Amino acid sequence: MKPSFFDLTYDELKLLLTEKGLSPFGATQMFDWVYRKWVHNPQEWSNVSKAAREFFTENYDFSLLKVVWNGLSKDGTRKFLVKMNDGQTVETVAIPARERLTLCVSSQVGCAVGCTFCHTATQGLKRHLKASEVVGQYLTIQKWLHENVSMDEKLTNIVYMGQGEPLHNYENMKKATLIFMAERGLALGQRRITLSTSGLVPAIEKLAIDFPPVNIALSLHSARNDVRTELMPINKVYDLERLFNAIKKIPLKAHRRITYEYLLADGINDTMEDVVALEKLLNPKESKINLIPFNEFPGSKYKRPSEEKIMWFLDQMIKRGFTCTIRTTKGSDILAACGQLKSEFEKLNLWDKDNKPKVIPSIASSVRQNLTP
Ligand code: SF4
Repeated sequence: MKPSFFDLTYDELKLLLTEKGLSPFGATQMFDWVYRKWVHNPQEWSNVSKAAREFFTENYDFSLLKVVWNGLSKDGTRKFLVKMNDGQTVETVAIPARERLTLCVSSQVGCAVGCTFCHTATQGLKRHLKASEVVGQYLTIQKWLHENVSMDEKLTNIVYMGQGEPLHNYENMKKATLIFMAERGLALGQRRITLSTSGLVPAIEKLAIDFPPVNIALSLHSARNDVRTELMPINKVYDLERLFNAIKKIPLKAHRRITYEYLLADGINDTMEDVVALEKLLNPKESKINLIPFNEFPGSKYKRPSEEKIMWFLDQMIKRGFTCTIRTTKGSDILAACGQLKSEFEKLNLWDKDNKPKVIPSIASSVRQNLTP
């Protein structure tokens, strides 16, 4: 199989052109054709040399991912199941908020981290995504939105918060980020990209050295080691002390505040003891806390706290000088808990003999009734 053009960063493309005896200046035109003009057939790159057009036609693949299912939530969130060349699928979600349309991309098929609240964890790690498959989620969904919704629908932000632990797939995520940010291409600013991690300490230590300076979000979920270990077994290896030693090395000038994601689970991490531990652990000037009331899924072991409890927790953090917000659960009516959609398709054997999704039966009466025409 040919390598994907979407695996090439701008610098790699220049290097490749030089190695092949072609002009490296062609990289600028090529990124312009591919990422700005959406012309994915090299034969149509009119200002590129014939030799370069032939080379890319013969040797590179420009195909996007296949959207095999999509659903629209009442709140405007669109969830997609996309299929890659080897038949594996991942989820990707477009979330509207004010003037933004954020794409939440997956970084792996499944995940090895094993957070006990997460549906993707039940799938285990199947493989890392290539950079082209991460960039491909963006290109595929942008194209789908243009063709199926409106030419005005523009993805403005990216969060690496879909299936997988992005830092477990460090090199490919770094490459995808460089491609997203390339000035000659999609030119997404560093503030429009958020990298989220469960706390893989060796990779966090590398961030400061060679990762583009995008926003960082850390899945904290508890400031108490015992509770965090219960929620996130990774905390056994990289406990809060090791984690925060690594976080201190991230240059905040570039990354500004770090966002701490805090899943609120009833009776688990929503007590006064948790508030006090958070206050002790975080510096209000350098932190933003994002409370995420648990999104229950069938078989999940945790429960969502009551609205009063959620508001109480928020109030406690604000009183202590923190910037703290509640992230409303998006798309809960379309199985938006991470990994849930893919599992439901597999469990119910919703693929037909040609590996296409069958007409959706019972998952989803709840899914279908929320689709808009
Ligand atoms: S929450 Fe993220 S890191 Fe944890 S198991 Fe799920 S996908 Fe992996």
